[in-house]
Amino acid sequence: MKLCDYNAFELSQMLQQKKVTAMEVTQSVLERIELRESELNAFIHVTAGTALAQAKEADARIQSGKATPMTGLPVAIKDNICTNGIQTTAGSKILENYIPPYNATCVDKLRNDGAIIIGKTNMDQFGMGSSTEKSAFGVTKNPVNPEYVPGGSSGGSAAATAAGETILALGTDTGGSIRMPAAYCGCTGIKPTYGRVSRYGVIAYASSLDQVGGFGRTVADLALLLNSICGHDALDSTSANISKPDFTRALNKDVAGLKIGLPREYFAEGMDPAVKENILKAVKTYEDMGAEIMEVSFPNIKYAIATYYLLATAEASSNLARYDGVRFGYRAEKNADDLLSMYETTRSEGFGDEVKRRIMLGSYVLSAGYYDAYYRKAQKARTLIRQDFDHAFELVDCILAPVTPSTPFKLGEKNDDPLQMYLEDIYTVSLNLAGLPGMTVNCGQVRDLPVGFQLIGKAFDESMVLRVGHAYEMHLK
Ligand code: GLN
Repeated sequence: MKLCDYNAFELSQMLQQKKVTAMEVTQSVLERIELRESELNAFIHVTAGTALAQAKEADARIQSGKATPMTGLPVAIKDNICTNGIQTTAGSKILENYIPPYNATCVDKLRNDGAIIIGKTNMDQFGMGSSTEKSAFGVTKNPVNPEYVPGGSSGGSAAATAAGETILALGTDTGGSIRMPAAYCGCTGIKPTYGRVSRYGVIAYASSLDQVGGFGRTVADLALLLNSICGHDALDSTSANISKPDFTRALNKDVAGLKIGLPREYFAEGMDPAVKENILKAVKTYEDMGAEIMEVSFPNIKYAIATYYLLATAEASSNLARYDGVRFGYRAEKNADDLLSMYETTRSEGFGDEVKRRIMLGSYVLSAGYYDAYYRKAQKARTLIRQDFDHAFELVDCILAPVTPSTPFKLGEKNDDPLQMYLEDIYTVSLNLAGLPGMTVNCGQVRDLPVGFQLIGKAFDESMVLRVGHAYEMHLK
């Protein structure tokens, strides 16, 4: 086993005990990148030089006794998260040459703790997609089987983590973009509560839904990562001003006596029977561990996809108005004789097709004649969906659900039918609409492809989600 195949929690201890150096860990990760990256394309930009310099600093810090549990651990950063002096593209040509003059708060926090930035990962443009096939920088492939998609939009972060091209990774999740690729690549991934992690310096897609989170190989890895990136930030007005627990404390408790809810409607139809069977096996494991399993109901879940795609596109159409060839990134030179044609050509050449589709849909939804029929209706449906969760959490401590209806699909398989692609998000978007935390735990394979289940918690109760997920991993061990 190579160093890059150890999980973050183990490596953190090995670093603190000086059994390995940050330099050795970083070199091991860079060797894996050398070996697999030409096939996987998980990164848009590998920052080998700065990573090695940061590893040297981390080793000195460990020697001086001032290390944190994150010191010396390589972390890959999704390319919609700003990194000072390092190109940040959001997977789009329109930001191809954008070099931020500052770090996102979550990146600053990682650096302050001594983590090593290994590179910027590939993603669907602006986070719009479920397969990482919609990047201007080529598709990312699934490390378990490169004929399949890694999921999206944080597919680069998931693939890199699963392949040993990094130890941990940051992603963003607007409608499932962390939980879904984690399930497809066979790693763990958490989307914290809306407001738990600062979004300052994160390129906006749909601001009432976007949340930063991360990937690891185990649940404990995610607790370590959350300890570093969570916390109130005055630079983000949606950042929650509440105290953050030590998330690793949640790992020592068992699940006996806890109430776990199974959403009846999620398991009802449309699910791949083999995936369903796999997840129900995990449910059985929880029963064996002494948890009480209860059915809960989500009568409004049937509106989730429509509600999400109306609100997400509306917000996106507004957020993406800033890319006009004047202030950021790409500017068209040809066919740009006056201001209006410069705007038009820049946006038509700079944005990918999926982004344009969403801007058009979002502008339509917000237009005077249709605002009440679509946007306002969707806001009302959002409230109903949130109330479904409120009712369920009066009965249970945690909810267990599928992440996706099936296993990863083949590259290209859903490219001609956007609606099919949108339906991939059926089990993930409702959480973002309600602002709740969700995590993917790996539960084996079906047809030689990874399967995961999702644990959903009350707002700001990431600790419960981590506790329940960790107990499962320990039981299997
Ligand atoms: N697949 C969803 C979308 O395309 C979610 C993406 C995300 O979470 N960033 O909008």
